[in-house]
Amino acid sequence: MSLTEKPEHLPAVAIGDAVLDTLAPSFPAADVEDLRGRVRGPVYAAGDDGLAAEVATWNVAIQHTPAIAVGATCAEDVVAAVSWAVAHDLGVAVQATGHGPVRNAAGSLMITTRRMQGLSIDPERRIARVEAGVKWMRVLEAAAEFGLAGLCGSSSDVGVVGYTLGGGMGSLGRLHGFAADHVQAVEIVTADGRLRRLSADREPELFWAVRGGKGNLGVVTALEIGLVPVSSLYAGGIFFSGDDAPALLHRFRQWAPTLPDRVSTSIAILRMPPMDELPPPLRGQTVVHLRFAYVGEDHAEAERLLEPMKAVGTILLGFVGPMRTDEMDGIHMDPVDPLPAWEKGMLLDDLTEETVDALLRTAGPQLDVPLIMAEVRLMGGALSRPATVPNAVPGRSGAFAVLVLGPGIPELAQVVPAIGRGVLGALQPWASPEKMINFLGDVSGPGEVAAAYPPATLERLRAVKHTVDPAGVFSFGHAI
Ligand SMILES: Cc1cc2nc3c(=O)[nH]c(=O)nc-3n(C[C@H](O)[C@H](O)[C@H](O)COP(=O)(O)OP(=O)(O)OC[C@H]3O[C@@H](n4cnc5c(N)ncnc54)[C@H](O)[C@@H]3O)c2cc1C
Repeated sequence: MSLTEKPEHLPAVAIGDAVLDTLAPSFPAADVEDLRGRVRGPVYAAGDDGLAAEVATWNVAIQHTPAIAVGATCAEDVVAAVSWAVAHDLGVAVQATGHGPVRNAAGSLMITTRRMQGLSIDPERRIARVEAGVKWMRVLEAAAEFGLAGLCGSSSDVGVVGYTLGGGMGSLGRLHGFAADHVQAVEIVTADGRLRRLSADREPELFWAVRGGKGNLGVVTALEIGLVPVSSLYAGGIFFSGDDAPALLHRFRQWAPTLPDRVSTSIAILRMPPMDELPPPLRGQTVVHLRFAYVGEDHAEAERLLEPMKAVGTILLGFVGPMRTDEMDGIHMDPVDPLPAWEKGMLLDDLTEETVDALLRTAGPQLDVPLIMAEVRLMGGALSRPATVPNAVPGRSGAFAVLVLGPGIPELAQVVPAIGRGVLGALQPWASPEKMINFLGDVSGPGEVAAAYPPATLERLRAVKHTVDPAGVFSFGHAI
């Protein structure tokens, strides 16, 4: 048989317009009908029209080809789907928005949660109850009515649950810590098909593990997250000419560590595409983007703190000023439309003169390389302090976070990862031993995920995993 011939026993799976062969298991039609009868949401088996659309990712560099997908509408659908998967010896994958796929969940039962949109705010207790499919923007909008905010990241298009289970580090982070530190309760379906409610007092060990353990422990159906009061925010971003990158990055390394916790900031070398939608000073240019967020009412102080950076280079475009909390996407200006991305991150213990030189040497604007972004974020403040109710989130020891991003397209599949890893390799002398799970990006396997955690955290996390998921039903995301 030739390699292009489809063996009789393998089903065909539609991916976009193409039809690909997979090693996905197939099931008796009656079993699939049985599952359809148990859930309210749609069920798509391999070969069904609609499967590819149901499991489509935002980061289209990775496309999922599960054996079967369940569009969950409620916790009971998740219970039924997990139980069916276990009975059919299938691993379970979960997707909300597709912003963070790790690898193709081929052959899995994939639970998509985007129909689970329940959201309620208790302004007295400053808590939001958020179902699994909710994106940050809805929480920000709803909380803003009460002068409250959630600890969203750079893009409010990201899902609250996936982001928070990986720690969740955003523009209010240095003042308030990781999003996971503010989780009050977790509702989760574990491999035994049980819907459990976890909190500091109920199943505390699993509660510890799931906050930082990402998708390893089960499918979270809802979170109760603490909201923080934000009376006033002075924030935004400034685009500088790429020619100023050396001066800006060297000033940043001296300036950023002097900032109070009420300021979060990052700086990125961005290679902008030649798209008509972009304003002319940025279109097709390599620029430096400074991001700044000050929480507080003393806007004059915010300006004073920002001034040393503004004085360094040629400003092409930008806005830093009073901002509503539901406008925080204006700080980083992340892309909104789906794109194919390759990314990888690390933490630094220090950002010295030599560190900045190494970054400029490998990712600086003078190079003709297919990188979209090389970003350095200031950590510290509340991000370096333990959570009130301890959790498994790694990365508190880092002083700065670095993220490198490039186009995740097949034509550059050999080039972008090599260049991106080269940038991070050049920064290794200053590397922090831990990593942030949400910024791991391209991982070569469970060993790399495991290495992100401090050894004692990993050992404890694995012990919890062994107790609640001994067969490794949940192993498609950041598997440990
Ligand atoms: C544009 C952009 C900006 C970002 N900015 C930040 C940032 O500022 N700070 C930061 O910390 N991270 C950031 N991230 C990373 C982001 O937090 C992760 O990619 C996160 O996993 C996205 O979650 P999702 O549910 O939206 O994505 P999905 O791809 O739907 O899910 C990703 C993973 O999350 C887990 N997961 C999702 N839902 C559930 C569930 N119900 N139960 C159990 N596990 C679940 C699974 O492991 C799943 O594989 C950013 C990502 C992008 C693309």
